[in-house]
Amino acid sequence: MATDVQFAVSRIASVNPATGEVLGELDSAGPTEVRAAVARARAAQPDWYAWGIRNRLRLVRRFQQILLERKTEIARRITQEAGKPQVEALVTEVLVVLDAARFLIENAFALLRDEPLPHGNLAVKTKSGRILREPYGVIGIISPWNYPFSTPATETMAALVAGNSVVLKPSELTPLVAFELQKLLRKAGVPDDVFQVLPGEGPTGAALVRSEIDKLVFTGSLATGRRIAQTAAERMLPLVLELGGKDAMLVLEDADVDIASSGAVWGAFVNAGQTCLSVERCYVHRSLYPVFAEACATKARKLRVGNGMDPSTDIGPMIHEKQVRIVEAHVEDARQRGARLLAGGERVRELGSTFFAPTVLSGVSHSMKIMQEETFGPVLPIAPFDDDAEAVRLANDSDYGLAASVWTSDRARGERLARQINAGTVMINDVVSCFSISEAPHGGIKASGLGRTHGRWGLEEMVRVKYVDTDLTPRMKKVWWFGYGREFSAEAESFLDLLFARALRQKMKASLRAAGALWRRKL
Ligand code: NAD
Repeated sequence: MATDVQFAVSRIASVNPATGEVLGELDSAGPTEVRAAVARARAAQPDWYAWGIRNRLRLVRRFQQILLERKTEIARRITQEAGKPQVEALVTEVLVVLDAARFLIENAFALLRDEPLPHGNLAVKTKSGRILREPYGVIGIISPWNYPFSTPATETMAALVAGNSVVLKPSELTPLVAFELQKLLRKAGVPDDVFQVLPGEGPTGAALVRSEIDKLVFTGSLATGRRIAQTAAERMLPLVLELGGKDAMLVLEDADVDIASSGAVWGAFVNAGQTCLSVERCYVHRSLYPVFAEACATKARKLRVGNGMDPSTDIGPMIHEKQVRIVEAHVEDARQRGARLLAGGERVRELGSTFFAPTVLSGVSHSMKIMQEETFGPVLPIAPFDDDAEAVRLANDSDYGLAASVWTSDRARGERLARQINAGTVMINDVVSCFSISEAPHGGIKASGLGRTHGRWGLEEMVRVKYVDTDLTPRMKKVWWFGYGREFSAEAESFLDLLFARALRQKMKASLRAAGALWRRKL
């Protein structure tokens, strides 16, 4: 295949973004290795499924307990490879995975069990229907670097519990965390071929998309997601796409400024702003605008930027200098077009090239890059609005639709606005934390992607729904089979009246005429 020829065997290096230290080097998996891994996964899957969901859930419980014992070590590894403060790694990664395991342990059996499907139509009352939820087979997972543990782990657990085997291609920037996940799952008892990790860059991911996987769960940028969807369309490969976001935060005039500004600062700067659910645009009612913007700037200036290993650090490095340059370009574009810099605005050079000061901008307009494109860095741009309708219009004026938040002291008003916002999730009076609610679906609309992960919706993405229907009168020819004629037409009309007419008299008359069809001669 031409694509195989283009693949040059390469090595990837895992680098600590805070220090530049090389943590490890690995060979990228090439197309041959990808195909071989998928073939092993396919061979192992039937036994894994046959083993039964109760046994698989027992392994999830064991995995959960091993992870709990090793929580600090795993959090450290995440911080070393991705840069975020260790406490953030604990709370936004390890805790999320522990709780996702809890959700599966408590709910997966009931959610995946066969389900009787009662029929409402009288014509088919002599049938018994059942819904089966069967695994796809081999699920491919391609994941990004920003949540290198919680993203692949939650998706993997759901896939495995449903009876699939998994081949994971983690980000080339954070492969070591993925191997930690592999170690944990193996220690819990998951067979080697049921969960495999293939390190590598884009071409390894592309090879996985072209391999014989049965479904792909991709988390990453819109540009890569689009490319993957084009390849997948050629063979109708089912996809879940968790892509980027440009999440809006709406602060209504009845919001508490102190609380909302703290929420904005956390939502914009957690993980150095490299969160798909980050607050990327903040719209504030004009009556609060100056005081709110100043509160955010004051709080941003108090944040401590540094190595995530230091417990006093609030904001770690960005993952890569390339990412810093995007942030710089967005801030520069905003400044040149009239935005005011209230805090930050540049790298913290004394710490290294990947540290960017938490930045607050006011006076931004909707056409600036900072309000249109995903910045994915520690920048909080703030703009005013005059009424709820304008706030909703601004929130919805985006190619993306991952999440949004509304800040108000009036719950009913917040929930009313939530219905008008085009996004996969709307939080009232909080941001980002929806990712840690294991029951809640995670995913977006528009350019933010397709399908859902997490909760029962994430579990349902890991199974094919099969409908099985058993006729309970196997010795009877069906009323609707051949042997049509004028009489049957009249009986059919009466049958429709029997089912759907509102007047009781009409129904009764129709039932007598329709009954003749039962004794009709069929072919
Ligand atoms: P990315 O698209 O560059 O890479 C994601 C993964 O895709 C990596 O593993 C990469 O190696 C792989 N890849 C690259 N090219 C590929 C190709 N042609 N075929 C197959 N795989 C390929 O994204 P990133 O920079 O790692 O992550 C940041 C992006 O991810 C942001 O846009 C962010 O919003 C998004 N994200 C979304 C969610 C969500 O749940 N919606 C969560 C986290 C991150």
